[in-house]
Amino acid sequence: MLNQLTISELVAKLKRREVSARAATQACLDRIQRVDGEIKAFISYDAADALAQADAADRALASGQAHDDQPLLGVPVGIKDVIAVKGQPLNCGSKILGNFVSPYDATVTEKLKAAGAVVFGRINMDEFAMGSSTENSAFQITTNPWDTSRIPGGSSGGSAAAVAADECVAALGSDTGGSIRQPAALCGCVGLKPTYGRVSRYGLVAYASSLDQIGCFTKDVRDTATVLGVISGHDLRDSSSVPQPVPNYAAGLSGDIKGLKLGLAKEYMIGGLDPEVKRAVEAAVEQFTRLGAEVVEVSLPHTDYAIATYYIIATAEASANLARFDGIRYGLREPGADPIELYGKTRGKGFGDEVKRRIILGTYVLSSGYYDAYYLRAQKVRTLIRQDFLNAFEKVDAILTPTSPTAAFKIGEKSADPLQMYLMDIFTISCNLAGICGISVPCGFTSTQPRLPIGLQLLGKPFGEETILRLGHAYEQSTAWHKEKPPINA
Ligand code: GLN
Repeated sequence: MLNQLTISELVAKLKRREVSARAATQACLDRIQRVDGEIKAFISYDAADALAQADAADRALASGQAHDDQPLLGVPVGIKDVIAVKGQPLNCGSKILGNFVSPYDATVTEKLKAAGAVVFGRINMDEFAMGSSTENSAFQITTNPWDTSRIPGGSSGGSAAAVAADECVAALGSDTGGSIRQPAALCGCVGLKPTYGRVSRYGLVAYASSLDQIGCFTKDVRDTATVLGVISGHDLRDSSSVPQPVPNYAAGLSGDIKGLKLGLAKEYMIGGLDPEVKRAVEAAVEQFTRLGAEVVEVSLPHTDYAIATYYIIATAEASANLARFDGIRYGLREPGADPIELYGKTRGKGFGDEVKRRIILGTYVLSSGYYDAYYLRAQKVRTLIRQDFLNAFEKVDAILTPTSPTAAFKIGEKSADPLQMYLMDIFTISCNLAGICGISVPCGFTSTQPRLPIGLQLLGKPFGEETILRLGHAYEQSTAWHKEKPPINA
């Protein structure tokens, strides 16, 4: 079935004209029809628009006008509802944007389109990317294709579930504290958060601007390399993007990792880590050793402070970024006798509980009298966390950790306890605080019934994507975890 193929498999068939882009897109749409009633990954999608893009790709392929620089020609790619696609709704999983339709394409959307992708769908997420389970969406709760009584992870849970359930061939997401890597781990696909500055965020609705990055979900590491190559690069419209050349990531996947040094962070193999996750990560360490990498212990001594630091900085930035949703400029407007009443009513009705909690927390940590005690101190600790990584990277090429302390939990299990939910981010948030890159690759399953995927995280140096992709690819190709399909595919 075409929707089950990887990007490289599909592109090979399209180039040989064995299949059409229309058939591939139709296969995804049929799949959505069949399973999305249960998975609920898509908030909406425009089938006619997707097929029209596919037809354009087929015309380019038929006329021989396909360009070498169109590595995604005819490939259906789903988009998280926080990234702008011209003419499509943009809701960020929230009610506050009302019927807002984006008047422009995000840079990543433009780049995908230029590379020939069929860009489609508004994919479900935690409201404004705040959450670890996709239960904070104002629209629906996405389920995990491996066990639909469980969460898919978050905040890009819809993107992970859609790729895992073969509803699209790849998807984009955003990662502020783990929102790509954690759902990828919980749904059994590959998820990459690039280095801060690698990918333009123009057209990404901001949550926490010093942490946000756009990245992708795919079915294997080679596909991640392909998508990263397309979306990366300097952009004058995002001053945080870096004018650093974009390597040919796919060409770097040599399969040879002999002599590379991997660090195992001793602070990450802690209590609270599920024994089955620990076992899977230990087995991965052995596999890396067999492949010729050297694994040594490293220390990231400020790990204990990462969650507190993140939830101060992220909420502070969110409180400022979300001030723009005031009922005047965009979306929902609840009338009031004066502007203050209008703001209050609109924001009271438009935002969900978690978003309100974070705006209140963020406003508090920035308020005069508390700024020094919380925000300023958190910034200092952030520098220490970054320094921990830079010190470790003097000794090793990449750091290996579990992606998430547990496999997917039950829907509703943690939603009443925000702190429990925040603890799910323990292994992913430091990467954002340090501004480095990270990838999650499938590394096993729990022994529960039904079984649940487990993810392995590889953290790389700033702009060290080539190395973590090479490592992830060599590991993946020597195992078969990424080839397993969830029961929803049966
Ligand atoms: N779970 C984290 C949060 O709730 C990370 C979310 C994200 O990366 N967008 O903030």
